[in-house]
Amino acid sequence: MNTFIPPFCRNPKCFYHQPPPGLPYTAFERWGSYTTRAFGRVPRFRCTCCGTTFSQQTFRVDYWLKRVYDYTDLTERLASCSSIRALGRAYQVAGKSIQNRIGRAARQVIAFETILSCYRKPKEDLAADGFESFCVSQYYPNNIHLLVGTTSQFVYAADHVTIRRKGSMTREQKKKRETLEQRYRADPQGLCRSFFRILEASFSVLSDGGRPSLTLWTDQKREYHRSLASSDCAAGLLESGRFVHRTISSRVPRSRWNPLFPVNYLDRELRKDLHEHVRETVCFGRNVNAQMERLSLYLYYHNFCKAHRSRGAFQSNALLAGYDPRFIAVERIKLWEWRAWHTKIDLTMSDEETWMRLRRTPLKNGKDYLPKHVAA
Ligand SMILES: [Zn+2]
Repeated sequence: MNTFIPPFCRNPKCFYHQPPPGLPYTAFERWGSYTTRAFGRVPRFRCTCCGTTFSQQTFRVDYWLKRVYDYTDLTERLASCSSIRALGRAYQVAGKSIQNRIGRAARQVIAFETILSCYRKPKEDLAADGFESFCVSQYYPNNIHLLVGTTSQFVYAADHVTIRRKGSMTREQKKKRETLEQRYRADPQGLCRSFFRILEASFSVLSDGGRPSLTLWTDQKREYHRSLASSDCAAGLLESGRFVHRTISSRVPRSRWNPLFPVNYLDRELRKDLHEHVRETVCFGRNVNAQMERLSLYLYYHNFCKAHRSRGAFQSNALLAGYDPRFIAVERIKLWEWRAWHTKIDLTMSDEETWMRLRRTPLKNGKDYLPKHVAA
């Protein structure tokens, strides 16, 4: 017998969408049921406060879907260098269907990490750098800033920015860049803006850890200094000695002893584990938002599922970063079952852009399609 009880009303405008804490939602009545091949009998409900009807499926990750997927398997395959088409062949579905599942899974892991970050106690310093890849065409390179723990190699934040193609180019290439830039030109302030968000994320690591001071290691890019100079919060923390920014030349050997080793390590992992970032691949990203959804899912795998080191007892990067294993276990039970709601969590700007598919893809007209339920 199905014993499901709706936890709240689905209508974001209804009082019972956010029932007061400690007061279970009871303002509903049973409203029949329907049967599907994938999920069997699905009970329906009606909110007696606002009159909205909904079903058990409304609260599930697989809302609107007709086929059940193993999201753990999908994540592992994606993080083992499987391309979207290879995944489609494995599951015998179209690539679009795979991307839809990855989008759902990405929103689930963003919510998972946001909830767990409320209980973390990080005690380590940080390193940040930009991972360079591209989307749509090599004329539109991007910088994915990563904020990584120096001891745990846990990725605390990732932010994407499209940058202008640089480096040596032939006359024809320069001409092509000019033509393409008439249709889309990267924001010249993009790098500063993106690093500013990484700075904000490092301040929240400092406050969550409740420690006296934190050091952030970066290379010597001028944009990083400009971002720091534009932050009022950074000025206060730098002056009081609670926040220290240290730089190292990017020409120093990328060995284990380099303070930027954590980000260099991530760079290597992304190049070998995510097919779209492999050098000279034909499986490059075609949509910035989809690229960030895949990255979010990969980072969940890196942070919470993968062993910190392949030798010795299993320990995830999240445990080393001061995440509580009890809370991880509790949230994991819900992760692939119950849908995360946008109205129920407070996201960082970068996560908000991934969730709502707000980033602009070069040469693409109009906004990305976003199903109505994703915004609720
Ligand atoms: Zn209602």
